[in-house]
Amino acid sequence: MAYLTLKGINKIYPNGYHAVHDFNLQIEKGEFIVFVGSSGCGKSTTLRMIAGLENISKGDFLIDGQRANEKGPRERGVAMVFQSYALYPHMTVYDNLAFGLTLQGVDDDVIEQRVNSTAAILGLTDYLDRLPRELSGGQRQRVAVGRAIIRKVDIFLMDEPLSNLDAKQRVTMRSEITQIHRETGATTIYVTHDQTEAMTMADRIVVMKDGYVQQVGTPYDLYFNPTNMFVAGFIGEPPMNFIESRIENGILNISNNPIDLSYVADSEVLEKYEGKEVVFGFRPEAVRLINSNYEVGNAYKMNCVVELVELLGDNTNVYVDIYGVNSILKVDPHESPEINTALEFSIPYGSVYLFDKETEKRIKLKNTK
Ligand code: ADP
Repeated sequence: MAYLTLKGINKIYPNGYHAVHDFNLQIEKGEFIVFVGSSGCGKSTTLRMIAGLENISKGDFLIDGQRANEKGPRERGVAMVFQSYALYPHMTVYDNLAFGLTLQGVDDDVIEQRVNSTAAILGLTDYLDRLPRELSGGQRQRVAVGRAIIRKVDIFLMDEPLSNLDAKQRVTMRSEITQIHRETGATTIYVTHDQTEAMTMADRIVVMKDGYVQQVGTPYDLYFNPTNMFVAGFIGEPPMNFIESRIENGILNISNNPIDLSYVADSEVLEKYEGKEVVFGFRPEAVRLINSNYEVGNAYKMNCVVELVELLGDNTNVYVDIYGVNSILKVDPHESPEINTALEFSIPYGSVYLFDKETEKRIKLKNTK
């Protein structure tokens, strides 16, 4: 196992494009780190700099405290799994798994033993004689993962390894990769644009946007304490609802739904932002529908009109119009409302977020940890 240090890492491509800005991160031994963000935000570039496939324009990269900027991919002790499985099409599963070890000159009987144990971990024992084209997408991806873990390296890098699989296979492979990580204990960096993968697999998540790290934290941290609107909107599905409004006398008048902010914000905050535009945020799953036999306490009441109802089985997404502002509410399927009806819902004070509209940074409220 290895610990990794990224100090002020930058990538400027030869064409002048600045793809990664001042990336700082300390990755502990055995940690499972996920880089997440929209396409083009610099995740793969950062991973490739760690792998030694791309040179680092500025900054220091250390493995176990030793500078590794100049080390080649082989010297770094990393194994990488790519989105395209990159299997050798004319070789059997056995030979694909064995290939790296054969190149290293490992003895045949050791290779056989390692291929067999790796195949057993990945459920590939019955497929060792097959060619890649005779396998399903999920099985091919398993071979690709197998080729990486068979090398018993300290650092395991994965770039969108599940994106060619269907939804069901992705869920299965997600837990398999987590399981393999637990068994091998290798320090792992996993790149994805999928926030669900990030949330379910990571010890810590690094959220990136436009080449900049936005926040580093545990899944819990990012969900409950997002540092800005980007993270708040990126983590969570459906995303957090945002409503822009101006604070007047400590109150947000969201289309005549008055939100008295003194319940959630300290007086210093109200004074600082008086007269300014802010963004009010709440998660779809934080709301409760209000019906006659339910007393609303410590929560804001909101009125809206139902525009669309998506029954998903375990819950229902209700698309509503809060007098001109679109939001999504996630409700119990038994409470699914009718389209075009008026609806009243509540948002507990503890589930309210507020952002500075100009900087998009989160404003600390009484509930902020
Ligand atoms: P991600 O993995 O987050 O989708 P990438 O790291 O692949 O993003 O790319 C980050 C940015 O760098 C993108 O805007 C991409 O177009 C640009 N980029 C990637 N490779 C090169 C290259 N070889 N030359 C110039 N720009 C590049």
